[in-house]
Amino acid sequence: MRETVAIVGGGPAGTASAMNLSRLGFKPVIIESEKFPRFHIGESLTTECVDALNRLGLKEQLKGLAAPGKKGVRIFSKHSGNSFYVGAGDAWQVERARFDTMMLETAVDRGADYVQGRVRKLSYCQQQWQIEIELTDQKTSTLNAKFVIDASGQRRFSQRQGIFGPLKEGNYARQIAFFSQFKDVKRLPEDNFDTLIFHRDKHEWCWIIPLSESITSIGMVLSVKAFKKCRLPAEEFIDSRLNSFSDPLVERTSAASRIGKVRTTSNYSYRVDCYASQGLFCVGDSHRFIDPIFSFGVEFAVVEAEYVAKSIQACSKSLPSEWEAIAHQYMDISTSAQDVIEDMLSYFWDHPWGFANMAHVRYKEEFLEIFAGRIYEIEAGEGLRKIRASNARA
Ligand SMILES: Cc1cc2nc3c(=O)[nH]c(=O)nc-3n(C[C@H](O)[C@H](O)[C@H](O)COP(=O)(O)OP(=O)(O)OC[C@H]3O[C@@H](n4cnc5c(N)ncnc54)[C@H](O)[C@@H]3O)c2cc1C
Repeated sequence: MRETVAIVGGGPAGTASAMNLSRLGFKPVIIESEKFPRFHIGESLTTECVDALNRLGLKEQLKGLAAPGKKGVRIFSKHSGNSFYVGAGDAWQVERARFDTMMLETAVDRGADYVQGRVRKLSYCQQQWQIEIELTDQKTSTLNAKFVIDASGQRRFSQRQGIFGPLKEGNYARQIAFFSQFKDVKRLPEDNFDTLIFHRDKHEWCWIIPLSESITSIGMVLSVKAFKKCRLPAEEFIDSRLNSFSDPLVERTSAASRIGKVRTTSNYSYRVDCYASQGLFCVGDSHRFIDPIFSFGVEFAVVEAEYVAKSIQACSKSLPSEWEAIAHQYMDISTSAQDVIEDMLSYFWDHPWGFANMAHVRYKEEFLEIFAGRIYEIEAGEGLRKIRASNARA
């Protein structure tokens, strides 16, 4: 009989984990509280993220989304004309409602069970996890499993249950993001379907992500404190900011109109240092979230999903006394990849011009690899070492 693995959450971390586990002969059970399709932010994928999805055999399913192809990221500073481009390979811009639904349906097609309900409690007894689920019809159900994946995203289920912790505030914790969908955003020939990032003062930035020929995702990020000073409702705030943020942004958005509701999310940056133990593993946003500016969130989710499936396979072939070493190895690999991005971002915000020079001129090849998301199990190159030394001095 196939060993059950309970998965809390059916976002990319949960569904990619399920697909990897099915391949290795496990029986994944995905428990998801929301009814899909549901809106989710996080639309720009990296090349390595797409490679991980291709490794799962999802090439045709991705093509079926008819999503725009992304070749890179153009980063604009405050003033018009000052921009640099990092061509980061072959990736996609996806509408997450459609992407996440495709992932969930494919995971189920490939053998995962799907339970619509909310996991309320996790308890550990005699080397088994007991998972209490509140079903949609207000009934409850209990599942027992030796292995559990927490893929609950920003809701951080196991940290909030007190299983893992402590929770540490991330460097970008006191920020707020506003976002919506727009039509009639002007696309200059050089924009292609790439991600455009516009930054201004430290930690203040906007994104343009094309989702189709006619629909564009636009978002803006700033500190909660700065937003409160404006005293504007979200809709007025996003519209007025678009008209004033920076020349290259205004050039593209002056004729744009909002076609979706304005959504916000705030205080989203954190980390949990210990996030795997006793057969329970956190994947994706459930243990760490940095700053979404260069679009690594879905990559973390789907690449960690590969490692977690292998870790669970290794545990199932070992004695429970060996599980902690396997959990530590999983955490070491995941943490050091996330550290690459966190260190790069710290340097970017402290030295935007120095960063442009490093990424675009001095260490171009190295930064192309990083922007493409090739950050797992790598040796730090000279550019990254210089960044780290500079961050340590700051
Ligand atoms: C402003 C902003 C912009 C971003 N832009 C990008 C981008 O351009 N590119 C990118 O790659 N990433 C981006 N991200 C990050 C990206 O959205 C996340 O990293 C990604 O969605 C993480 O996937 P996940 O599966 O870990 O979590 P999620 O996608 O959040 O999935 C978690 C799922 O778990 C379910 N769940 C939670 N608790 C329970 C429970 N108790 N029981 C049952 N189900 C539960 C939830 O309903 C949810 O469906 C952005 C994030 C923000 C905040």
